[in-house]
Amino acid sequence: MIIVLRSGVSEETVDAVIARVESLGFAAHLSRGTHRTIIGLIGDEDPAIVGRMKSIEGVAEVLPVLPPYKLASREAHPQDSVVNVSGVKIGGGFLGMIAGPCSVEEPERMDRIAQAVKASGANLLRGGAYKPRTSPYAFQGQGEDGLKILRDVGQKYGLPVVTEVTDPRNVDVVCRYADMLQVGARNMQNFVLLTEVGRTNRPVLLKRGMSATITDLLMSAEYVLSQGNANVVLCERGIKSFDPSTRNLFDVAAVPQVKQLSHLPIIVDPSHATGVPSLIPPCAMAGLAAGADGVHIEVHDCPAEAKSDGPQALLPTQYTDLMAQLRQLAQLLGKQLAA
Ligand code: PEP
Ligand code: MN
Repeated sequence: MIIVLRSGVSEETVDAVIARVESLGFAAHLSRGTHRTIIGLIGDEDPAIVGRMKSIEGVAEVLPVLPPYKLASREAHPQDSVVNVSGVKIGGGFLGMIAGPCSVEEPERMDRIAQAVKASGANLLRGGAYKPRTSPYAFQGQGEDGLKILRDVGQKYGLPVVTEVTDPRNVDVVCRYADMLQVGARNMQNFVLLTEVGRTNRPVLLKRGMSATITDLLMSAEYVLSQGNANVVLCERGIKSFDPSTRNLFDVAAVPQVKQLSHLPIIVDPSHATGVPSLIPPCAMAGLAAGADGVHIEVHDCPAEAKSDGPQALLPTQYTDLMAQLRQLAQLLGKQLAA
């Protein structure tokens, strides 16, 4: 870490700063410039200490050298991480193709959708049993009954299942049925929930909050990793924008940026990022081309009857066409769509 001192500080202040940082266990290297004096520190760069350094008299700025997310950083783990979801690999050249309705639907409909997306090449089935809704009057999900439907249909078609957990009190019940726990955008900074999913050994799909920076996203991943659960897959699902023409703003640059900063896999969710069916295929392609490790798409056989997010659902036939395009692109990129 580097400390920049205020211009014109006295010799006594410089000595006092050095004495203070040495008392905190750092070795200090003083460097005097024409206008500014800086002190290079050698020692464990604990983010908590950075805050304390800033309040030392005479200090203008404290510049951490390392990112605040230690375990999630690329420096900590130069190789790409591969997350194994009950046999389906995501990352390191393997693509996770997650598809299904927004909410778990009735068994017959789930069966039809699962059969269709499996035939198109999806390798993970999604559906929410606990839905985080903006309105308390909107459909909240089928709870444990929905988890059972999802698990049974997933087993029938050999598709591990992904479902959202919205409440730390439900982590146990969701773990009984799900192969992967989704932490949704609205809960990306629910630190109690992140800690609880971090205490499980289930892979976690961590979606970027709609107003979260990339650092925020990686810090949330750090919560899970710090509890001992290394199986985190990130998801870019669009951020808030001023333009109502799409539901959110698809931040495709987040994909290569996260890849540079972190070893964790990152997938894209063009369904929530755009909210517009005709924009989903091109954005899915863009995400994959930008380096994403998979694509998360909402598919429904009758959007008009969907329990939630019908207007953004792709029909099974549209999903089949998109998967054919994605497969070609994957081949070009040298990536595998894990069976
Ligand atoms: C969802 O996956 O259906 C969902 C609610 O997503 P997000 O948290 O990204 O809004
Ligand atoms: Mn949805």
